[in-house]
Amino acid sequence: MAEYKYPARKKRYKIKYKNLALLLAILLLIILLISKGCSAIFSGRDKKDDAQTTPASGDIQTPDIPDDQLSAPVDPTDQHAYRFTSVTLTDDDLGTGNLVLVNNNIKFLGTVSDDDLDVVRERKNSAYSVKDYNVKLKPVAMEALNNMMLDFYTVTGKDTVMVNSGFRTVEYQEELYQDELKSTGQDSSNLVAKGGYSEHHTGLVIDFTVSEDGHYDQSLIGTGDYKWINDNCYKYGYVNRYPAGKESLTLIDNEPWHFRYVGVPHATVMHNYDYCLEEYISFIKNYTISSGFLSVTTDDGSRYMIYYTPSNGADGTTVFIPVMPDGDDDDSNNQPYPYEISGNNVDGWIVTFLYEKGTGSISPQPEGTPDNTVEPSDQDAQQ
Ligand SMILES: [Zn+2]
Repeated sequence: MAEYKYPARKKRYKIKYKNLALLLAILLLIILLISKGCSAIFSGRDKKDDAQTTPASGDIQTPDIPDDQLSAPVDPTDQHAYRFTSVTLTDDDLGTGNLVLVNNNIKFLGTVSDDDLDVVRERKNSAYSVKDYNVKLKPVAMEALNNMMLDFYTVTGKDTVMVNSGFRTVEYQEELYQDELKSTGQDSSNLVAKGGYSEHHTGLVIDFTVSEDGHYDQSLIGTGDYKWINDNCYKYGYVNRYPAGKESLTLIDNEPWHFRYVGVPHATVMHNYDYCLEEYISFIKNYTISSGFLSVTTDDGSRYMIYYTPSNGADGTTVFIPVMPDGDDDDSNNQPYPYEISGNNVDGWIVTFLYEKGTGSISPQPEGTPDNTVEPSDQDAQQ
């Protein structure tokens, strides 16, 4: 029995050993698998640790990079990049500047007198004509007109454009308006503004006529060679003020002969975004001293920053102007960037400053340019 038992026990043991061997094999396999997984994890961790503890080779190389390249680049549209000086403006100033918005619903708040105006006949070059000595413009619009027409002549060889109209008094505009109503029989006009509501009161506007036969009896409509003026005027600071498709905003029918001076950076934005002045004046309100500046690069490579400051009302409004860094900590004597402030003729001011002057030229290569000297003024003929 014992023997039976023994072999039986032995057999039992044998069976046990068999199970044990299987168990050991399974355990071995599990251990092998776990250790493989662990080694994978550890090897990963080891690599990480290596990266952290071994001095980063990138850090060792960085001293070769100049210090100014290590600092973050300044964003010139961010007001935190600047220190400021300020001017105080009252609402009496809202009607001054190149960006005044005047239309059938917005009366011109500014005043323009003869002292503020150039007689175009006395200042113009020979690349174009002018109707008579009554045609007057603000000097800034006058200079831009001369440059634009000289380049137009250079490109096309045509000196057949005439400035038919510039500054108009309120009384004269009202006469034009009443004449228009009489001739149409209507009680309002989509072509002629009433007195006080015409852009021509600003001294920043020209109407062109053209002549192919010596008679300047056709309005410029921007076709053929003359299309160059409509396409390129923004480079000189002018815009087609009443473009087709914007009638519901401008309240005036398409007038391809009517050009308004707003300044090169603003004309460039309006050109880039296809905005009429109503849209642009609204758009620019998105850019303020607290939200950041609008940056525009003009065709000559100059970079301008633009922002809006709303009016505070009767108490006056503080308008901040960035000053240029001069390398020391005392900002009290720093000069402001070259800047302009214009009222919008409604509820605030637009500040424009030249952040960086470009080195390019917008003028086409001359091939036989006309005489660019100013015609001698004829004081006796002045009216
Ligand atoms: Zn006009």
